[in-house]
Amino acid sequence: MNAQPDARLDRTRFPVDEWRLVETQPPTAEQLGTAETLFSVGNGYLGLRGNVEEGRDSHTHGTFVNGFHETWDIQHAEEAFGFARVGQTIVNAPDAKVIRLYVDDEPLLLPIADLLEYERAVDFRAGVLSRELLWRTPSGKQVRIRSSRMVSFTQRHLAVLSFEVTVLDARAPVAISSQILNRQDGEDEYHVRAKSMGEGFDPRKGEHLRDRVLVPESHGGDVELGRVTLGYRCANSGMTIGVAADHHLETANAFTTSVHTDDDLAKLTFRIDAEPGQPIRLTKLVSYHTSRGVPSRELLDRCHRTLDRARAEGVDRLEIEQREWLDDFWARSDVEVAGQPEIQQAVRWNLFQIAQSSARAEGTGIAAKGVSGSGYGGHYFWDTEIYVLPFLTYTSPRYARNALRFRYSLLDAARRRAEQLSQHGALFPWRTINGEEASAYYAAGTAQYHIDADISYALTQYVRATGDVDFLLKEGVDILVETARMWADLGFWRAENGETFHIHGVTGPDEYTTVVNNNLFTNVMARFNLRSAADAVRMLAKRDGRGYEQMLARLDLEFAEVEAWEHAAEQMVIPFDEHLGIHPQHEDFLQREVWDLAHTPPDKRPLLLHFHPLVIYRFQVLKQADVVLALYLQGDQFSDELKRADFEYYDPITTGDSTLSAVVQSIIAAEVGYHDLALNYFLDALFVDLADLHDNTTDGVHVASTGGVWNALVSGFGGFRDQGGRFTIDPRLPMEWTELTYRITISGTRVRVRVRQHEVELAVESGDTATIKVRGAAITVKAGEQPVVIALDGQGPRLQGSPPPVAGRERADGTVIAAIVPGTDPLPGRA
Ligand code: BGC
Repeated sequence: MNAQPDARLDRTRFPVDEWRLVETQPPTAEQLGTAETLFSVGNGYLGLRGNVEEGRDSHTHGTFVNGFHETWDIQHAEEAFGFARVGQTIVNAPDAKVIRLYVDDEPLLLPIADLLEYERAVDFRAGVLSRELLWRTPSGKQVRIRSSRMVSFTQRHLAVLSFEVTVLDARAPVAISSQILNRQDGEDEYHVRAKSMGEGFDPRKGEHLRDRVLVPESHGGDVELGRVTLGYRCANSGMTIGVAADHHLETANAFTTSVHTDDDLAKLTFRIDAEPGQPIRLTKLVSYHTSRGVPSRELLDRCHRTLDRARAEGVDRLEIEQREWLDDFWARSDVEVAGQPEIQQAVRWNLFQIAQSSARAEGTGIAAKGVSGSGYGGHYFWDTEIYVLPFLTYTSPRYARNALRFRYSLLDAARRRAEQLSQHGALFPWRTINGEEASAYYAAGTAQYHIDADISYALTQYVRATGDVDFLLKEGVDILVETARMWADLGFWRAENGETFHIHGVTGPDEYTTVVNNNLFTNVMARFNLRSAADAVRMLAKRDGRGYEQMLARLDLEFAEVEAWEHAAEQMVIPFDEHLGIHPQHEDFLQREVWDLAHTPPDKRPLLLHFHPLVIYRFQVLKQADVVLALYLQGDQFSDELKRADFEYYDPITTGDSTLSAVVQSIIAAEVGYHDLALNYFLDALFVDLADLHDNTTDGVHVASTGGVWNALVSGFGGFRDQGGRFTIDPRLPMEWTELTYRITISGTRVRVRVRQHEVELAVESGDTATIKVRGAAITVKAGEQPVVIALDGQGPRLQGSPPPVAGRERADGTVIAAIVPGTDPLPGRA
């Protein structure tokens, strides 16, 4: 690991800029896929990868509409009852980014073009991707090309593109061909996938659909209006899509326009007699509408309405709206790391990605890759609830509510799924788009029953933070009750040290250990789920007699059931090993052999790409934090000593092969006193995509990690926690940092928290008043009053990044990462 943020990124290519990601050279073939992800733009509904306008030379063309998917029958080599049946894959939508340029009939092709200047940047405040080139054509003419691309945050179905060409020093015939292109399987006649990158097996990629997915329903063009359209229906899922583009060319030069449309292409071609120094500016407004079944012609009507409105508003106004939207977003959500511009830039890139993948999701989930790529098939996982929702809940609660309401809309499907698995209540799918379980591999999929508790956790956290009891009582309670029912039914009682409640045959978050008994994470989270459900029912009984009666009838609930949940929660087995003084990940975990990670060569990592699951499952080795995640999410259930002992045990056997791990390890490392380690893990997460640390950024942004970056800043270093509805702060600022500022919105009041080495400063930025406990002292801050400064003396050393008081140990790369658990032999692979 490297504590120098700069070492992770090539700064000659990506110079430091706190509000933009700037690229100074065109990416090489090897860098192309990652760059397309890093420069993708989206609003949570529509996403455009950072493919070049010319429409060629891409690693992976990508235009994604959240939830727009094809279905297919999952073919299991060996069938069994209850296996997932319906595969779901996000569809690569028709590509409206394409704007091809010809000067003197020579095409602009970036990899071979003689470029005198190049810069591409995505601006986090403007919400616009822009590129500027100076091209010397083969005949020696100099051509300036400025282009921009924006997916509107204010108009969900709209993207705004511009393309400006100026032949600087000569006359030249110029042709601009603006297209909507439906590529079959992401390919086109020019598209060559870089062979060197190898398209080998990788379960993290999306499935490739072989047959034609988009059945053409209509295409049209109107040269006078400057409009072209394409409409399709998905062959199996029946979902429909309409895409339309509106064009406006501004130039003092003479030009003609022609149109061509067919099943897979709709294009307008402009031929211009360019005079030296006369700019030619094309504005292309694009609209996408999708539906579960409305005919695509009707969707095209919607597209026309979106475009008419956008055209009337004008690009300047649309850009101002975008900026204002982002001003608000940053006012609510920015996290500032003073004096650390490299980190600041990366933090903002990460937070910007959360906005891009969630803001306008509305009625859909938030996919593991947002709308930036097709990795994981565009599926929704627990990533949303555990990694992304904390950020949304505390900064943009409306978006959190939308995501939770989306889960509510899947409740009936979850009830059916529980029934298929012989369980009462509701079981949410491990991965899905349409509510059906899409995980073909049950051991690391469906067996992750904890998804139910993750959703209930996020819901409860949202209600506590916002006070949105209305949502809880009307919809949330149904989720809590049905998931509690699932746990009560899944677990069983055993007469063992009195009556104890056990949950067998489940997989926790760590996918390198599957189908086990009494997974600690699952049991602790199920306990929380059972209690939250009981609390919600009791609250409803107290607050709203009529609503309570309706709920009992609606859910066919009797109060005895609620008491049974409380009893099961009370008696839940929490595995603990007296000898080592730690919590085993599951009942038999410590009986397994320890994987020798220190002697596992880098070419055998990540393990999932080099070892059969059976090999991995046999060992003590973790893909991602499991017990350690429980220590964070249920922090008030564990003592400081046990947190430390657990962290010390698990950290050396955690591979971090999942990007969901580093952020959690960072948070608990900070809490238990491993400050350097906390910073290292944080930096790994911060740069996971920017520096392509997991070698698969090309498949899309690791959205859970971007949310985790916020958690690591706010909960890890910033020390913020919700302890059963009480908000607390106990910071652990890295020694290298002087000041960290974050914002938290609690019941509509936005509090700015500024952490320095020896003090915390609280101020209300908007709203009314809030109370937060800082290292045990309750502090109330009010709007219009001076910031309150709390000195952090007494426990100062905890803030100083002081080295851990137990003996450290070295990892293969020389960094000291953990200490030997006292009283145990050093284990192979941990030495
Ligand atoms: C992780 C899961 C995660 C999924 C999607 C997997 O590699 O193990 O926890 O939900 O990726 O991000």
